[in-house]
Amino acid sequence: MKFYSLNNKAADVSFKDAVLRGIAPDRGLYFPREIKPLPASFFENIEELSDHEIAFEAIEQFASDSIPEIKLKEIITSVLDFPFPVVELEKNVATLELFHGPTLAFKDVGARFMAQSLGYFSEGENSEVTVLVATSGDTGGAVANGFLGVKGVNVVILYPSGKVSDIQERQLTTLGQNITALEVNGNFDDCQNMVKTAFLDSELKFEIQLTSANSINVARWLPQMFYFLFSYKKLKSKKRPIVFSVPSGNFGNICAGMVAQKLGMSVAHFIAATNVNDTVPRFMRTQEYTPVTSKATISNAMDVGDPSNFIRIRNLYKNNFTELRNNLSSYSFTDEQTKRAILEIYNSSSYIADPHGAVGYLGLKEYQKDNPDTFGVFLETAHPVKFLDVVEETLKLNLPIPSQIQNVLEKKKVSVNIDTYDELKSYLLGK
Ligand SMILES: *Cc1c(COP(=O)(O)O)cnc(C)c1O
Repeated sequence: MKFYSLNNKAADVSFKDAVLRGIAPDRGLYFPREIKPLPASFFENIEELSDHEIAFEAIEQFASDSIPEIKLKEIITSVLDFPFPVVELEKNVATLELFHGPTLAFKDVGARFMAQSLGYFSEGENSEVTVLVATSGDTGGAVANGFLGVKGVNVVILYPSGKVSDIQERQLTTLGQNITALEVNGNFDDCQNMVKTAFLDSELKFEIQLTSANSINVARWLPQMFYFLFSYKKLKSKKRPIVFSVPSGNFGNICAGMVAQKLGMSVAHFIAATNVNDTVPRFMRTQEYTPVTSKATISNAMDVGDPSNFIRIRNLYKNNFTELRNNLSSYSFTDEQTKRAILEIYNSSSYIADPHGAVGYLGLKEYQKDNPDTFGVFLETAHPVKFLDVVEETLKLNLPIPSQIQNVLEKKKVSVNIDTYDELKSYLLGK
């Protein structure tokens, strides 16, 4: 499949080049030239397919020009080695749990797929690829874990000193090998700005092959459609219109669900649930896209003021607002509402939701007020233990610590302190 730049000023590229570049030379996001629906028989017989078979059929048209079938199947098998349970909580309300991977967040799926793809692309190459990523929390851990030990790939993660949780910091700084954590004296925006500057630095680009590992990268974005299809397989027998409510920040996850819909999966509606960073809910009301600086919330992985993937969503619906509105509703919720939802879900279903999942639940309930005949699935994007303080304080109980977290708590933190872009550049150039 060829990928084109949404800024329309760069040449089409293969899947491989889109992955290696991350972003197009004209600064546009890459987007597939075409999304061919899967045959109707695929959805008619989906119950008979394994998750690995479903994933292969879904991604094949996008990646097969760059990864041979046997390798693509191998990648899928190693990426998807944990479950994606659907848990029914109330009548017509279920949650799709995406937190059973190694870092307990849905980003494990895309990060691992991208890592394995890059590893394959660098086999037999002399030069190494450097993945540069800024994190405010979850991305760094998933990327570090997914890329650990992948040959030919070095990973450099920038994180703001003192501004990520203890567990998140350990997930970044205790792995070693090809993973380096740079501890930036500053905030997340400073980290993000340094990464952006590096991507525009022609001297640096001449010396090393740099790519990004956020959801801008097609190899991180597209595999996120897999678990929408897995849950569809389980819920098809409900014979009700299925709606997905996705707690959203950069809107990559929900956009991948919409690609599954374009492949032919029957979805009645999508709900993008946000915290008070409500750029998209405002757009859906006013048709005016006005990004603002992000505000800090308890669902901090969604503290995004200018969601990078929203342009892909608009493009999926041909930049036609009516078509978009028929498929997408978007609501925003405060921290107070989120905490009340955590409590409500626990009291009514004995289920412990994390703040992001709780925002998804709220979005679903809002939509179902007017659409009670739908079957709703909200995505649980992280394990509640990753947001221990908020969850324990809201529910007045102690959560057991899963083994994935126990392991990192016992390891030693190693990081390199930096203050300025020049220090980052010297580090990357090995000076
Ligand atoms: C990254 C993240 C999100 C937001 O996902 P997007 O694809 O950026 O919309 C939601 N919840 C959690 C726990 C995350 O880590």
